[in-house]
Amino acid sequence: MKIAREIVTLLSIAAFSGCASPSSIPAPYLHPERLYLQDRPYTRLYVEIDRTEGVDLPPFFVDQLKAFLGEHCAKPDGVEVILDPPIPASEFENMPLSALSILCCNGPAPDHATQPAYLHVVAYDGKTAFKGAMREPRVLFTCPSTVFWNVDYARSWPDQTRLDMLRHELGHILGLCRNTAHGDGAHCDKHGCLMFPTPDLLSQIGGRVHLYYREQRLCDDCLHDLKQAAEVPCEDNLSFAGPFLIRKEDGYLVASLPFCELIVPHPIPVEFDWQKALGQAKAYVRKSMGRVRREEGNLKRYHEGAFTAFLGAPQTAGLTEMLEQNIAVLSRAMNDPSADVRRLASHMLKKRQEALATQGR
Ligand SMILES: [Zn+2]
Ligand SMILES: [Zn+2]
Repeated sequence: MKIAREIVTLLSIAAFSGCASPSSIPAPYLHPERLYLQDRPYTRLYVEIDRTEGVDLPPFFVDQLKAFLGEHCAKPDGVEVILDPPIPASEFENMPLSALSILCCNGPAPDHATQPAYLHVVAYDGKTAFKGAMREPRVLFTCPSTVFWNVDYARSWPDQTRLDMLRHELGHILGLCRNTAHGDGAHCDKHGCLMFPTPDLLSQIGGRVHLYYREQRLCDDCLHDLKQAAEVPCEDNLSFAGPFLIRKEDGYLVASLPFCELIVPHPIPVEFDWQKALGQAKAYVRKSMGRVRREEGNLKRYHEGAFTAFLGAPQTAGLTEMLEQNIAVLSRAMNDPSADVRRLASHMLKKRQEALATQGR
């Protein structure tokens, strides 16, 4: 009877040890992995790591991250990892995780002339902060350029298990598991592969009691997928501007961070000023925080809430002309593949049309 209970416990632990698989299914319109895997258009990779106060990263966290990316990403000018100072507790108290991830993002150091591929790691401790946020390590499918890392998850497991979880999430960022020939489109089906939802069974049992744990590696099929992805030309509608993943659509751009989508008219302004846009996004998030904090107890739903904004055309000509330009952009964005962008476009379009009607009177 005792043995049966042990097995049930172990199995429930096993089921508990995967990443947040549904959120790891990438949106079909976003394939940024080639920007990481290939040496063009970006010859460097810049990794920003943020962590909240009190977070202890496992030893060799930075080394393993760098080694994994260095092994799979063709970046002749290197992989640069910047560990930002811990974020003071006072700055993320009563704040949803979505807001924190935007506010702590600095983007690549501006002292370098060329734009790198950009990757963000946001580490936090779910035991003391962001109650109600998803616990599993994860990558957000609407903007697969950030790993959300809860150090409380699998805290009692060997360090290697947790490092494998990090490399597993990085595997998602590199676009692994889309191949349904050896998986379900979210994970690889090869038991023992790094991209399998859980570690191999022996490691699950041994790792729980710190007796045995085998480092999980990519299977040959996953390695083959990486090799193939590295050879397919990059889509030219995707790029990075600072930390933003830019998706170029007909008549507008969508500049994304996780939990943040900005609609930007294109080609006006001709050049997307990412530092200005990041400042605007942060100001917008800070402003929204006042409302979120007043609704205390309701914070949970904001952990997953997206911040969207429309950075309208600058008023270069008359007001009527500007409104007409914005209406043209928003009408196009009504058909965007992202549901959040469509929702914002619909809301803003109505407002602009009302303003234009008032203007005409
Ligand atoms: Zn996964
Ligand atoms: Zn595999």
